[in-house]
Amino acid sequence: WFDSKIILGKNGVPVAENFRLEQSTIADTIQAGQVRVRTLYLSVDPYMRCRMNEETGSDYLVPWQLSEVADGGGVGVVEESKHDNLAEGDFVTSFNWPWQTAAILDGSLLQKLVPQLVNGHLSYFLGAAGITGLTALLGIKEKGHVAVGANQTMVVSGAAGACGSLAGQIGRLEGCSRVVGIAGTDEKCSILVQEMGFDAAINYKKGNVAEQLCELCPSGVDVYFDNVGGDISDTVISQMNQNSHIILCGQISQYNKDVPYPPPLPPDTEKIQKERNITRERFLVLNYMDKQEAGILQLCQWIQEGKLKVRETVVEGLANIGAAFQSMMSGGNIGKQIVLVSK
Ligand code: NAP
Repeated sequence: WFDSKIILGKNGVPVAENFRLEQSTIADTIQAGQVRVRTLYLSVDPYMRCRMNEETGSDYLVPWQLSEVADGGGVGVVEESKHDNLAEGDFVTSFNWPWQTAAILDGSLLQKLVPQLVNGHLSYFLGAAGITGLTALLGIKEKGHVAVGANQTMVVSGAAGACGSLAGQIGRLEGCSRVVGIAGTDEKCSILVQEMGFDAAINYKKGNVAEQLCELCPSGVDVYFDNVGGDISDTVISQMNQNSHIILCGQISQYNKDVPYPPPLPPDTEKIQKERNITRERFLVLNYMDKQEAGILQLCQWIQEGKLKVRETVVEGLANIGAAFQSMMSGGNIGKQIVLVSK
């Protein structure tokens, strides 16, 4: 069996070499209440960068210890069960799946999955029909103040990523009349417009973002789904309307820096935020788990109806999970970054 273990955790840009692959064995027999699972898919996510520090900066994340098996969102299949509610062949998921090809897990900590809900695309439970989709949906519902008929313009940063690509589409489904994305390549921008129904997209690595935004949002910005923070967000906030709303989803441009979360806005931007009465409340999807079930059903329905287009970037093999994480953190993904461990 293979474990991927972390060997370095400090400030700086994460690299694939922060992870190491080892072969080890798991027990031959399982105890009452346990299941033996084979891993199918693993998720790599920006929050894992915080788990690479000795202090994660948040009370809901524990640091990965050196040489400990890393863990995160995972989906697998039960191969042997001594748990009453789980049987061989069941598909299951957990937020704390070990980065192993196979594992013995406590059955009560696993959630059973219904593949039909996602037309058999089990990896969607780590993305559009999982925490990522919920983050986009509940972020908009709880913090976006989006209303049908209100003629609102939404801007999404990190727009071609897992959360962002869904957030723009959900913003439209919930009633925004104009949706503009900001992403890091021309290819991403064209996918946003041609596949995902965004009205326009800006490549922030090319040209003047402020000028393009001004042109593309002639009535100003009413809702800003912020995945990135930093200069991009300062530019968007400078074009936000009176009484508008920021959905403070994430600040990935700051994750390799030793700053508090959420990072404070620079004085000029903070002045604009206050003068224009722009809301910027911290949003954490884990605080809304009472809405998880209904939210997932809504997302699955939209996926089945073709109203929510899903993109994934899939890397094969547990050995490549560190590289997949590094790639996602630096923009190598379109949609959700997934690691396929076994078929
Ligand atoms: P993702 O967007 O699929 O992947 C990360 C993307 O961030 C990359 O593809 C890259 O795209 C962009 N990026 C990286 N460095 C950047 C920089 N310096 N400036 C601008 N963009 C940069 O990841 P995700 O899982 O969907 O997460 C997106 C955000 O949501 C993260 O901030 C994450 O922490 C947050 N999040 C929050 C919650 C919550 O409960 N609040 C839950 C889940 C995720 P480009 O090519 O466009 O640069």
